[in-house]
This record gives sequence, C-alpha cells and structure tokens, in this order.
Amino acid sequence: MIIKEVIEQIELIEEEVIQLRREFHQYPELGFKEERTSQRVIDYLLELNLEVERTTKTGVIGLLDSGPGPTIALRADMDALPITEQTKVSYKSKLDGVMHACGHDGHTAILLGVAKVLSKLQDKVKGKIKFIFQPAEEGPGGALPLIEAGVLNKPQVDSIFALHITNKLPTGVVGLQRKVVSAAADEIDLIIKGKSGHASTPQDGVDAIVTASQVINSLQTINSRKVSPHQKVVINLGTIKGGYRRNVIADKVKITGTVRTTAPKLRKSLPAMIEQIVSGVTASQGGEYQLNYQKGYPVLINSTELVKDLENTIKQIPYLEQLKFLELPSMGAEDFAYYLQHVPGVFFRLGAAAPNCSYYPAHHPKFNFDEDALKIGMALFIYITLQRIKDN
Ligand SMILES: [Zn+2]
Ligand SMILES: [Zn+2]
Repeated sequence: MIIKEVIEQIELIEEEVIQLRREFHQYPELGFKEERTSQRVIDYLLELNLEVERTTKTGVIGLLDSGPGPTIALRADMDALPITEQTKVSYKSKLDGVMHACGHDGHTAILLGVAKVLSKLQDKVKGKIKFIFQPAEEGPGGALPLIEAGVLNKPQVDSIFALHITNKLPTGVVGLQRKVVSAAADEIDLIIKGKSGHASTPQDGVDAIVTASQVINSLQTINSRKVSPHQKVVINLGTIKGGYRRNVIADKVKITGTVRTTAPKLRKSLPAMIEQIVSGVTASQGGEYQLNYQKGYPVLINSTELVKDLENTIKQIPYLEQLKFLELPSMGAEDFAYYLQHVPGVFFRLGAAAPNCSYYPAHHPKFNFDEDALKIGMALFIYITLQRIKDN
C-alpha cells in the first residue's frame, strides 16, 4: 500500500528536514545571492540521483524521471529578507541584517524532503517530477527569469504547485482559495514639478507641495468613485519627499507608491485612471509631472478545476485536521502567479501555528513558525503529486 509507505518515509526523514530548515535559517541569503543555499540544494539532489540543473545564477531545477507520463512541478522559494533577526532560537541567523522571516527556509527544506521520499518511491510513479528551487521571490522576482529560461519546458510541465507557510493558520490546517489567491502589485514613481520662489510671493511660483497634496487626495477617489464597490484596489503612497526650507516654494516633490488589485481587467485600466488625475490636477495648478508606472507581480489565480480534483486527495492526508477554503484573497503579492499564467496549478497556505503559542507576523524580526508543519507540507506535495501521476 503506497500511502502507508509514504507516511513511513515522511516520518523517517522528518527530523532531517527540521535540521535542514534550521541550517537554511542560520545562513539566510537575499534574492539572487542564494549561493550557499543553492549549492546545498544541488548536493542534496545529486545524492538522490536526480538530474540537476543550475539556472538563472542561483536557481536550481531537479528532475526525477520515471519514464512516460505527466510532468508535475513543485516550487519552493529560497530567499531571505534584509532584516536583523531578534528571536532567541538556537538556530538564529548568523548574519547581521539578513533573516528568513517569511518561512522560505521551511519551503526549501520541505521540497528537499519531498524529493527524497519520491525518489525512494520512484518505481511506483510514472511520469516526471520537476523540483523548482527559485531565487528572489521577495524581489526583484525569480519566477519570471526562470520561466524565460525555460523551466516550464523540456519536459513540458502539466501542472505546478507551491505552498507558503503561515502562522495565521494553526498547524494541521491547509488553507486554499478556489480561484483568486493574491493581488497584483504595481509600482508608481511620480515627480510633481512646479516653480520655485520666495514664500512671500506665491503668485510668482508654482507650489509643488500644494499640487502634490491635491494629487494624493484625488488619487484616493479612484477607490471610492471610479471603481465598483465589488472590486478591490489599494493605492498606497508610501513615500513623499520635497522642498528645501520653510520659506521657499518647493519646485519638486517625489512620490512613490504601490497599486494593488485582485481584478486583472481593472488592473489594465488603472494606469490610465491614475494618469488622468495626475495630469488634470497638475495642469490645474500650472505644474508638470513625470509618472512612471511599473508592472509588478500579476494576480495569482488558482486553477478551480485542479482545486476541485485535489480536494478529496488532500482530505486523506493523515496529519491534516482541516482543509480550509479561504473566502478572501490576500492583497499581498506572490510571484508564483507568473507560472500560473502558463500552466494550471494551485498555491496552498500551510498552517504553522502551534496551539497556545503566539507568533509574530511574516517579515517581522521575531517571526517563527511551528516545525511540526513541515511534515504536513511534505505530505501535501507528495499526495497531490501521486494523485496527478496516477490519474493521468
Ligand atoms: Zn515574504
Ligand atoms: Zn514568502
């Protein structure tokens, strides 16, 4: 019975996976600098006799080839964040200013564990399994370069899966959206230009600060007046810089912000809506502007069909207490979205909060999670992979 064997194998390596996670945690690396991590991943996969390829500098692809059949891809992100860790754990980051504060150390360890278990069950699977170890999810984005380098081809990937550890859900719970998972996140860089002058003669200048304040307030009317109340958009202007001293009219204000929405169609119309307001308000004050609207990660959309197909399989995982369907998408962004623009797939939330413990949120210097969740993550990947391979 293959399921009994899967569980035996997972339990056999549970401790090893926890140690791997702690090792990655101690040596965190920022996006596209995952040298040590990727080398560790390569060595581990080679020991399992997988075909291993290094791509996009620090990306690693492992292939378990069990002959003809579908190709399933599993993706883990490997990068850490520019944060100085403030926990007291024995495996605390050894590097000042870098920390695994988003759980990607856990994702990498889980996927290595999955590769080990599936390579032991190789004679029982028909098809190919691609293990994608991706750099730079926290930015500038590792998914797109990997796709451009052909990670979804040769062999062509039929479906792809990823998970994210979250201490917002208890250990034993897997969270899942049927369709929209997370928002697109675009970036605005805006410069408002006026004309400098003495504060005592405002009639001779064009005040970039007053103009900027009107632009900022007017941009908030996009959400309240221009977009249907049934759709979601966030326009957050996070920085503003301008002016020289109290008695000088400012001739320049720089603003940066993020624009988020879960509606792909609405996303397309937002740059024009924003520009219309910026240009109209600036012109009304006699000023000028320079607007740079940069597209970021797209909306992450799960395959509703795959979610339906996998529901029963996931419920059979012995460690799972609840498969929880999440009503609302997250307004965060995740570059796994790029893969799902090419192949169907599903993104899972892996609950990792031990009972009666309190946790700090992701990206916090005291972030941590319950390592009991690691084996549930392994089981999740293994169960869905075996189901896809069996059914096709
Ligand atoms: Zn993160
Ligand atoms: Zn993350």
